[in-house]
Amino acid sequence: MITRRIQYEIAGNVVGPFLTNLDKWRKKLRPKKKGPRKEHPFGPPLESVNRLKDIMTRYYFQGRYADGAVPVAWVTSGFPVEIFRPLGFWTVYPENHAAICSVQRVVPELSDVVEKEGYARDLCGYARADIGSVMTGKTPVGRLPKPDLLACCTNICQTVLYWYRALAEHFKIPLVLIDTPYVYGDAPEHHRQYVKDQLLELLDVAQKITGKTIEPQALAEVTRKANIGSKLWGRCLDASKNKPAPWTGFDEFFHMAPIVSLRGSDECNDYYLTLAEELEDRVKRGIGGLKNETHRLMWDNLPIWFNVRGMSDLLAQNGFNFVCTTYTNAWYEAGKVIDENDPLGSAAKAYTHIILNEDLPKRLSLMKRLAREYDVQGAVLHSDRSCKPYSIGQYDLKDRLQAEANIRVMVLEADHADPRAFSAEQADNRLTAFMESFA
Ligand code: SF4
Repeated sequence: MITRRIQYEIAGNVVGPFLTNLDKWRKKLRPKKKGPRKEHPFGPPLESVNRLKDIMTRYYFQGRYADGAVPVAWVTSGFPVEIFRPLGFWTVYPENHAAICSVQRVVPELSDVVEKEGYARDLCGYARADIGSVMTGKTPVGRLPKPDLLACCTNICQTVLYWYRALAEHFKIPLVLIDTPYVYGDAPEHHRQYVKDQLLELLDVAQKITGKTIEPQALAEVTRKANIGSKLWGRCLDASKNKPAPWTGFDEFFHMAPIVSLRGSDECNDYYLTLAEELEDRVKRGIGGLKNETHRLMWDNLPIWFNVRGMSDLLAQNGFNFVCTTYTNAWYEAGKVIDENDPLGSAAKAYTHIILNEDLPKRLSLMKRLAREYDVQGAVLHSDRSCKPYSIGQYDLKDRLQAEANIRVMVLEADHADPRAFSAEQADNRLTAFMESFA
């Protein structure tokens, strides 16, 4: 235990930072390409990108040594993760890890393994990638620490329940489920109480595993930090209400990693303060995410992780920018509600009112608000084969948005994780035709 703890501390405080610096030095020393530089349609890169890489590299590197050194919890993306921090848990987001697998295009390989075990290809690509990674030990991040606790909240989908049950069976460890009733309008008081009671049970289990007691003051403090971090993230998103937007929706997808994985920490808040200041400075100086932003769009649903580059190039070359996305916005909407004066009660409210746990009228009204505030002329609704709960109702939303927000809307069929359910040519043709409709 002591040796493991020393390894873990060295990994986080010495080797992790050294590796990120090594990468920077390598880039500096790499001979510059000769000849004319290729013209591209993007504005100057964000300086905060380097810090983001440092934080996430260190997070995954130190994570390799976390099990046996500190308690480890694997959690779903809509889980009130901050509650774990005062107890010293290292938290892993299998969904974030699966997104990395998708960017690295290893999902088909991992999925093949689980499909042979009887899991259907129609199951969410995140679940297939994660279970495949657990079964094979293969991961682009080196190693994931083994969990002591699995924590799953059904506010995003029911898939996570069956996925985490499979993990619990594999690791033979406790699974805590936070069940959130689906919200029509506003969650009634008894629903919030039901969720709050489950959070109290979560505290019991987490305290038993760590042998520590969570002090009310520590819970209030971490809730305060999570609230600040979420608002800072919101401030970064708000910067795109300006014209031109100082970054693109594709940038947002990558910069959201700390608010998902490190919410409630100083590191997360420091990062978003720096990013917000950089974005606001770019706004003042008229620097856009695109050199020439001619059209502003909204994106709905998860990104197509393995094709972010291809799609962002195509849109940028034509002056189209996703200035807001319902996905990145979700981490602002929930976090701004949590309140240090009532950590568990406010968490019950916040994490029940998650976009995927709310009815279609709520989603429509959110999208109309975003369309208005960010002044978009169109929207692309990603009908995601993997994520059924996010994709359901999109054809109705399309009609209503066109009629009520007076914007052009297209539905793009794809998958957020598995390139086998995606045709790049077809998607490019459809997006090109959509962009031409604005001429
Ligand atoms: S089905 Fe959707 S919400 Fe559920 S884990 Fe997959 S991507 Fe996330």
